[in-house]
Amino acid sequence: MAYLRCDVAILGAGVNGTSIAYELSKRGKKVLLIDKIVMGAGASGSCDDMILLQSKKPGILLEMAFKSLELFESLKDELPSDIEFETRGGTILIEDEEHLAIMEDFVASQNKYGLDVEIIDRKRLLQLQPLVAEDIIASTYSARDSQVNPMLLMKAFLLGARQKGMELLSRTRATSVERLNSGWRLLLDSGDSVETEVVVNAAGAWANDITKLIGFEVPITPRKGQVIVTEAIPPLGATNVWSAQYIVSKLKPQDAAKNASGGAAAQAPAERFGLGFAFTGTHNGNYLIGSTRENRGFDKSTDPEAIGLLSAQVERFFPVMSKINFIRTFAGLRPSTPDGYPFLGEIPGAPGFFIAAGHEGDGIALSPITALVMADLITGKKPKFPMETFDPGRFGGKAGL
Ligand SMILES: Cc1cc2nc3c(=O)[nH]c(=O)nc-3n(C[C@H](O)[C@H](O)[C@H](O)COP(=O)(O)OP(=O)(O)OC[C@H]3O[C@@H](n4cnc5c(N)ncnc54)[C@H](O)[C@@H]3O)c2cc1C
Repeated sequence: MAYLRCDVAILGAGVNGTSIAYELSKRGKKVLLIDKIVMGAGASGSCDDMILLQSKKPGILLEMAFKSLELFESLKDELPSDIEFETRGGTILIEDEEHLAIMEDFVASQNKYGLDVEIIDRKRLLQLQPLVAEDIIASTYSARDSQVNPMLLMKAFLLGARQKGMELLSRTRATSVERLNSGWRLLLDSGDSVETEVVVNAAGAWANDITKLIGFEVPITPRKGQVIVTEAIPPLGATNVWSAQYIVSKLKPQDAAKNASGGAAAQAPAERFGLGFAFTGTHNGNYLIGSTRENRGFDKSTDPEAIGLLSAQVERFFPVMSKINFIRTFAGLRPSTPDGYPFLGEIPGAPGFFIAAGHEGDGIALSPITALVMADLITGKKPKFPMETFDPGRFGGKAGL
């Protein structure tokens, strides 16, 4: 039985746990990162690779995404290994006049906020995506949308943090937590215990399992996304692609996902699976075809019906995809919150017990800025962003320990 000591114990080695570990290690903190499975076992190892600005409503999340993108631009050189960061730009395909009107308003509001995005006509779209279906009437275009390989990103954060003394415990979980005069003691299922000044709960969709240990409930629930991976092929076009329906379903989740292929018969299953279209080519040439947005608890299985819908959808937007082989499918669990904002900060009534979880579909994109604001809060610096929106106590309650 070992007694471990650290300045900060982080629970959860996803993209947020590893990015926070890296940032705090850089600031001289002795960090212990603990995962109940292994790095990337959660959503960060089962997701797409996009750093999307266009998908964000004007507001604090868009501001944070701007800053995150800037951070990625320096992290790609600073981190000790390649993260396959690339800025290809992004296009959101518009199928009809109704979506065009919604997207014109959305783009105008983003422009006011300083995002460089425009509506382009079909002729310009064809220069970026020559193989797009004949009836796509227009698209948005932002040159800033980027991508990164999430597994390589986590690996690089981990490597960078390790070089500065961080330690990682895999296949380990805290079974109970004690409050000390100064700091916290975690009892681990290995029989070891950890004394630490600060705890950070970065357990994504599982974050509530950890807050419960201190008598606090956080309303984070899993939202499943199913994805298809294709064989490696030459690039189909220049940009990453989404459908306006995907944005509309994010803006109005209650109206979620009319099937992109139209047709009343097809609409019910598409709604049931919260279907949206996200299509991105990886560095190796494999394409990721996503995804669904489902409330199905912690079930991570994929199912033929959803995969069939995703397949029909990609063929609808890119008919050439009917000739391409799929090599596998996977599903990940986005950590979803009732208001769409993550919880970032100290848990009420638990000094030194922090949470950084609930990023839903933006956790990869926001991981660098999440690390920065969390490291500021933990080291007593005032973050550059107003943090009220992310207050872990905003739905009420207080730790009972
Ligand atoms: C299909 C899909 C597509 C997506 N596409 C994108 C995208 O293009 N761009 C983007 O920015 N985001 C995307 N996301 C969202 C993104 O994947 C998540 O927001 C992000 O990965 C969350 O990271 P996290 O570190 O907070 O949580 P996770 O990656 O889920 O990590 C949580 C970790 O905590 C561990 N854990 C759980 N319980 C405990 C415990 N008790 N003790 C210790 N460890 C524990 C788990 O094993 C896991 O490793 C997508 C998600 C999905 C599912």
